[in-house]
Amino acid sequence: MLLCPVRDCHRALVREEKRLVCPQGHSFDAAASGYVNLLQPQDKRSKDPGDTAAAVAARRRLHDRGVTGPLLEAIAEIVCNTPSDVVLDAGCGDGFYLGTLARRIGFDAYGVDISIPAVKAAAKRYPEYQWIVANADRFIPYADRSFSIVWSITARMNAGEFRRVLRDDGRLLVAIPAADDLIELRSPSGGEGRDRVDRTVETFAKDFTLIERRTATTTAELDEDAVRDVLLSIYRPMRSQPVEATRVTFSLDLLKFKPK
Ligand SMILES: [Zn+2]
Repeated sequence: MLLCPVRDCHRALVREEKRLVCPQGHSFDAAASGYVNLLQPQDKRSKDPGDTAAAVAARRRLHDRGVTGPLLEAIAEIVCNTPSDVVLDAGCGDGFYLGTLARRIGFDAYGVDISIPAVKAAAKRYPEYQWIVANADRFIPYADRSFSIVWSITARMNAGEFRRVLRDDGRLLVAIPAADDLIELRSPSGGEGRDRVDRTVETFAKDFTLIERRTATTTAELDEDAVRDVLLSIYRPMRSQPVEATRVTFSLDLLKFKPK
């Protein structure tokens, strides 16, 4: 099901001992922790693309505190996974949403992210699933119609590739930060949330029809360390004054699509 990421190749990869090889001889090592790096040099705009190790660690600490639990439940509810699903998480980060729900429900799980620290963290905690470093903006390294569900949770959106790897009877879930997400920590910028939903639906309009929409919101009383982790995870430079404990809103717009 995995395809060679080399441009103009894209043939099936076959697993050998500790690497994956395509019929044209392109080969990719599997890391000791199980993930495979399929990132091509031309796929990177920087030496270490995607989330930094510090941001990945901060986000995992927030997940582990349980603050994003209600968002996970809302995602589970709208996706309605069954054990027979084959799920791709495009932009899986540390694997929290995919790994947690796969273990609970028993579906097959595949995560792709451009950040090596993120995929490493996912593979370490959820070793029973497949985790791949790749640039999903360019090419999702899986065969056509591989998945019954594709989701993108506050991640990149590649409508054409999502459609290609999704079965005709599959479903796509896109989660984007809602207007009030982290509102306590953001400078007031006017409500662009509604526009963002419209823009997202537009992005997918050629290949997908919106069939359901809801907003998932939760608030948590965070201590200083947790507030610091939120700021780290969104790359907000630390302010010079000390960070204070505060109540923080986490909010996602969930958009469910079917293929056209
Ligand atoms: Zn190849």
